[in-house]
Order: sequence, then structure tokens, then C-alpha cells
Amino acid sequence: MTVQYVCRHCQSEIGNVLKEQVTDHDLGFTQLTEDEKQQMIQNEQDGAKKVQVICEHCYEAQQRNPALHELDYWIH
Ligand SMILES: [Zn+2]
Repeated sequence: MTVQYVCRHCQSEIGNVLKEQVTDHDLGFTQLTEDEKQQMIQNEQDGAKKVQVICEHCYEAQQRNPALHELDYWIH
């Protein structure tokens, strides 16, 4: 199974993990509720998982301007 990590803000690909079986623990999602997980993880048609995360760049932008946190998308 391929797990693809994509920034939810700028859509850039952060990384790929290839595993036979991926648990929530592997993904670091043990702290999240089922609803939160469903929002963050998309199951692709080919069986891969796409995880919406936040990249370093967008994280820093958010730290500098917390109002951006209110928006799902913005232009750099
Ligand atoms: Zn980003």
C-alpha cells in the first residue's frame, strides 16, 4: 500500500511511504478521532491512501499569520 502525504494548503507532495500494511499508529494518527481521520485520509481508487497534512512552508506561514489558519486554501 502506498501512502502519499500531500500538503492540504499548497498541494505539494511531501512524501510517500510504501508498506504492506499501514496502521493508524504508523501514520501518527492515534490521537485523532475517526471523523478527523476521515477528513485527513482519502482512499484512492488504486488502493493507495492520500493523507492531507501540512508542509513546513505552510506551517511556518501559519505561525507567522495565525489568521491563515481560518482558511483552507490560500495563495503563497
Ligand atoms: Zn504547503
